[in-house]
Amino acid sequence: MQEQNASLSPLLNPSLNPAAPLELASQKSGKINLLGLSAQQLADFFESLGEKPFHAKQVLKWIHQRHVTSFDDMSDLSKSLRSKLQDVAEVLAPKVILNKPSSDGTHKWLIQTPDGNCVESVFIPEDDRGTLCVSSQVGCMLTCTFCSTGTQGFSRNLASHEIIGQLWIASQKFRVTNVVMMGMGEPLLNFDNVVSSMSLMLDDFAYGLSRRKVTLSTSGVVPEIDHLGQVLPVSLAVSLHAPNNALRDQLVPINRKHPIEVLLAACKKYLIVSPHKDITFEYVMLDHINDTEEHAEELIKLLQYLPSKINLIPFNPYPGAIYQRSSNNRIHRFQRQLSGAGFVCTIRKTRGDDIDAACGQLVGQVKDKTTRQAKHREKVNKQDV
Ligand code: SAH
Ligand code: SF4
Repeated sequence: MQEQNASLSPLLNPSLNPAAPLELASQKSGKINLLGLSAQQLADFFESLGEKPFHAKQVLKWIHQRHVTSFDDMSDLSKSLRSKLQDVAEVLAPKVILNKPSSDGTHKWLIQTPDGNCVESVFIPEDDRGTLCVSSQVGCMLTCTFCSTGTQGFSRNLASHEIIGQLWIASQKFRVTNVVMMGMGEPLLNFDNVVSSMSLMLDDFAYGLSRRKVTLSTSGVVPEIDHLGQVLPVSLAVSLHAPNNALRDQLVPINRKHPIEVLLAACKKYLIVSPHKDITFEYVMLDHINDTEEHAEELIKLLQYLPSKINLIPFNPYPGAIYQRSSNNRIHRFQRQLSGAGFVCTIRKTRGDDIDAACGQLVGQVKDKTTRQAKHREKVNKQDV
């Protein structure tokens, strides 16, 4: 693995993740889908077949580097092993139902899961990198009040093969240098599947990305931030969005369970294992809600003792949204205040608007298992939006 610090190497071994069982057979065929198995899980799988674990490396390369899904084509495996694999396993990629380029170079895939739900991923090309924004759940259990996913309710966690499948699909077409777990869902509430798929992103026999180039964004599920630091400390982005508990309680309701001071303590602890020397804080710019000079001052005070970068995200409106995007003037004033206080503060480009695909605003189709979607629809109808 790249950029692997020797003292950290055991941490990067997902077999040390106590809660990472071998993924079970896929729905219809009864066969196990090898696409989502980490190197360790694949080695365990070969051992369970009475085969040598080193075949895991060969098969990882075939699947993730050469995009081969037929065991017949895996020419460095013996014929008998290939036929054994055919009997018990398969390599099944998620089903893409929409594959759409945008005029600004971003590219969106809509992926349909067998239960009829949809999730999205988006590729964002830039001069020096290509970033894929990946979804981790169908919907989200949390209810951030500015987030369209939050209004759609929750259906289920994505399986590991459905998460890594998004990178598998995108990397057939584009050179993906960075992955951000910033699509639909709260990745830390689907911990095991997210860790298995991220370990494939890092594995040299699969995608070989460094820990610096795989970023997990969380709304602040504090116990799981610690857990991530123990098993797979990739880059961390934290959705802060407010400089005090009263406002954050409204915008990011998980704050009522894990308030800002506890969240920042977890971030400080994470820095010990993080591949970066600072934590990135995301801050959505909501007009006259969290974007005043006083808010900026409060944020400066709040983060003064924690090595931090701040990424301002212009709010991305959606039908029925109760907020508006801050004006460019207000966003730039906020940025100037933070930069003036010595923070690295960037403004996220809004791209992919014409395909509704700005990262963090990925809208799939969720068969809601909560009542949230219906309630939201009722509210929107009343507002006559
Ligand atoms: N659940 C995780 C990751 C997915 S959301 C999290 O909350 O961090 C990825 C980012 O997009 C988060 O920072 C989120 O707050 C932001 N986001 C959500 N809805 C948005 C919107 N309508 N406009 C701009 N950013 C939004
Ligand atoms: Fe879930 Fe993140 Fe949206 Fe909050 S911002 S509802 S945590 S996806």
